[in-house]
Amino acid sequence: MNTPAAAPHRCVVCGSGNAETVWSVALTPMHAVRPAGMADAASGFGQLDIAACSGCGHLSNRAFDTDAADELYGALVLTNEPVSPGMIAAVDETAALIMRHLKQESAVLEVGGGGGALSLALARRSARVDLVEPSRALQPERFAGTGVALHRAMFPVPALAGRLFDAVVCRQVIEHVPEPAPFLAALRASLADDGIAYLELPSANDILRRHSIVDFHYPHVHYYRRAEMELLLARAGFAVAEVFDIKQGHDMGFLLRAAKPLTREARASSDISPSEFAAALAERRARAARRLAAIDGPIALYGANAYAQALLGLYQESTPFAAMFDDTASYAGRCVYGPAGEITIEPPRGERLAGMAAIVIAAYLHDAEIARKISTTGFRGPVYTLRAPVVDTPDLIASLFDP
Ligand SMILES: [Zn+2]
Repeated sequence: MNTPAAAPHRCVVCGSGNAETVWSVALTPMHAVRPAGMADAASGFGQLDIAACSGCGHLSNRAFDTDAADELYGALVLTNEPVSPGMIAAVDETAALIMRHLKQESAVLEVGGGGGALSLALARRSARVDLVEPSRALQPERFAGTGVALHRAMFPVPALAGRLFDAVVCRQVIEHVPEPAPFLAALRASLADDGIAYLELPSANDILRRHSIVDFHYPHVHYYRRAEMELLLARAGFAVAEVFDIKQGHDMGFLLRAAKPLTREARASSDISPSEFAAALAERRARAARRLAAIDGPIALYGANAYAQALLGLYQESTPFAAMFDDTASYAGRCVYGPAGEITIEPPRGERLAGMAAIVIAAYLHDAEIARKISTTGFRGPVYTLRAPVVDTPDLIASLFDP
């Protein structure tokens, strides 16, 4: 085990070797979902040591185990499959956005496509798509006759070396990549001079604004603010054509064009005070602990995703969560887990919900949709979301992190 102080650390944005811890969790699950009853149940944990760079303020997990990345991304279970009307609509909107900028019959490269929902949507709009995704859970048969060519591997893929694409799409991937510069350079090398690229990732500006502690979870190595990512993109030879706020600012999307790489120095950051940020995060952690402790009876989680994963790492030892509900059919027989053991994932059936004293919506980006669904089951107990409240903007659903 590395201790944070001994771990070599160099900021990927500014190169500084100094950073200050703002958030740490000793034992956090590496996977959001895994098969139930694994023989080696004690494995599958990592450490969070989220540090703010002293030079530029960039946030990253100093304790991320780069050697375990292949195993992590060959992940046992595919996550983030669209399961609700809202999620499916979001995939279609992204596909439409990309296709607006492309000629007919264009060649598209998607890197890290998860279950392939976006690639399939692009192929339906007559693009020819090469999908690169390392998950061993992805079944090639799913893409037979669809116009999507699957490369089940880590990017870059030797088979695609030298190929140029009209569009390069990479969503929710770059924050997982320990060394972003060579990865972005490889994306750039795949892009035709008159092509477009679309990069989407979570926004650290949003975490800084909302103090959202469940947004720190093991698979994310880096937490980029918009200006940091623009700097890395310029260095890699991308010009930013347009920036999109996604999910009320939780994520950011960059529409990019090919350009000459620029030498850009990172600027010193003035908008992160590591000690104040750390104190605000610690306060959030304590608040949710008090709220959970005040609930008298079994507590269920809804949404077997990264935020549930983070929550279990934080609270499972003090709160024996009684159930894990999720709408993803393929999660049957899977579980979520934390330091105190496994919780089997089950579909949200009314009679099971009725036995709960409270439900915590972990899939907080879809909390309004899920809260409506819970209410149609007849459940009348308290429902909390993991959405961290923004001061001055009361949310419709009570947050576990409300004051
Ligand atoms: Zn830095």
